[in-house]
Amino acid sequence: MNTMYFTEEHELFRKSFKDFLQKEVVPHIDKWEKSGTIERFIWKKFGEMGYFGLNQPEEYGGMDLDIFYTVIFLEELQKINSGGFAAAMWAHAYLAMTHVNKEGDVAIKKKYLTPSIEGDKIGCLCITEPFGGSDVAGMRSTAIKKGDKYILNGSKTFITNGVYSDYLVVAAKTDPDKGNKGMSIFIVDRDTAGISASKLDKLGWRASDTAELAFDNVEIPAENLMGEEGKGFSYIMQHFALERLIMGINAHARAEYALDYTLGYMAEREAFGTTIDKFQALRHSVADMASEVEMNKEFNYSIAKRLNDGQYVVKEASMSKLLSTKMADKVIYDCLQLLGGYGYMEDYPLARMFRDSRLGPIGGGTSEILREIIAKMVIDKKEYKPAAK
Ligand SMILES: Cc1cc2nc3c(=O)[nH]c(=O)nc-3n(C[C@H](O)[C@H](O)[C@H](O)COP(=O)(O)OP(=O)(O)OC[C@H]3O[C@@H](n4cnc5c(N)ncnc54)[C@H](O)[C@@H]3O)c2cc1C
Repeated sequence: MNTMYFTEEHELFRKSFKDFLQKEVVPHIDKWEKSGTIERFIWKKFGEMGYFGLNQPEEYGGMDLDIFYTVIFLEELQKINSGGFAAAMWAHAYLAMTHVNKEGDVAIKKKYLTPSIEGDKIGCLCITEPFGGSDVAGMRSTAIKKGDKYILNGSKTFITNGVYSDYLVVAAKTDPDKGNKGMSIFIVDRDTAGISASKLDKLGWRASDTAELAFDNVEIPAENLMGEEGKGFSYIMQHFALERLIMGINAHARAEYALDYTLGYMAEREAFGTTIDKFQALRHSVADMASEVEMNKEFNYSIAKRLNDGQYVVKEASMSKLLSTKMADKVIYDCLQLLGGYGYMEDYPLARMFRDSRLGPIGGGTSEILREIIAKMVIDKKEYKPAAK
């Protein structure tokens, strides 16, 4: 236990969450990986156990716990080897629900946040468009006000939970002439007329559904605008800090899991009359990997602490995602190598991890975009500020 960040209570939570995952989730993972559909009962069970409300306000049914409960939630989800299942859960709890909690008014929170915490409503966050995901400000979807409604037109792609969720948190231009200052965020019910979704086939994250969405004159009640009109871009950028740190934490956790598994394998596998963990070349490779996992983990914990203390850690969260996802890809690649031919087999965990991990440097801001952001802060001394309340 790292006592700088985790208390006895945290560790009790870790143990009970781990047990829950082994009992309730692991027996279904292979089925969900094949079908690309996570059955509803498990969402409800997560809700009943309070797992979707760890960081949410008590008045809406959450537990308002410190960030290290979230860190444990993320880490343990990575250690059951389904990046897709993990993504479906954290995209709901930390992408969609973060916007609902931070920008939704009381009526929206009652209608969407409480059932989200209870596992009765699933959400998704729709920012990326087919014409481009990195250039968020260049999005083309529009939501033009007409009387007491906004009329949403456009499309989104690569949306996690985009097929099976009950509501969509959607970014669109309410004033297309104003660039990123003309963007707003809405909450939209799935069954609203004019929304269609198709499921995308993908390399990894196979248990999670990923959608392309089309909006054809979708009527959104004006009260479903979240926060202030025109502030959508600032809200998105503000929450990216959390999303990027989440992806950094996920990365150190899956690398740690890959390494632990590989160490167990190496202790059993024999070649040339000895177990392979006795070969110096492999031992040095393990030493490098263990060092990198530890460095990233410690950095991510310290950024989590600062975020928890209310600091605006956009630079550090970008660094976390940039380096931890790269490290995880490398560690998983090298661990697969240490399993020899078995690393390439679906019966062993490294094959799926290898596929799943590859999304790390792409989703939620590519490594190239993160380098741009970091370079602007480091070289040009640009300062990013939280959206004004
Ligand atoms: C499985 C999966 C799940 C996802 N889930 C969600 C979700 O739930 N919600 C959501 O909104 N999005 C989601 N995404 C989208 C993801 O965030 C985007 O794919 C990502 O931001 C990149 O956008 P893009 O794919 O359009 O690539 P592009 O923006 O088209 O970029 C293509 C390439 O060009 C590079 N590039 C672009 N601009 C620059 C530049 N200025 N300098 C240098 N290089 C540049 C990029 O780094 C990349 O390598 C998901 C994606 C995947 C694959």
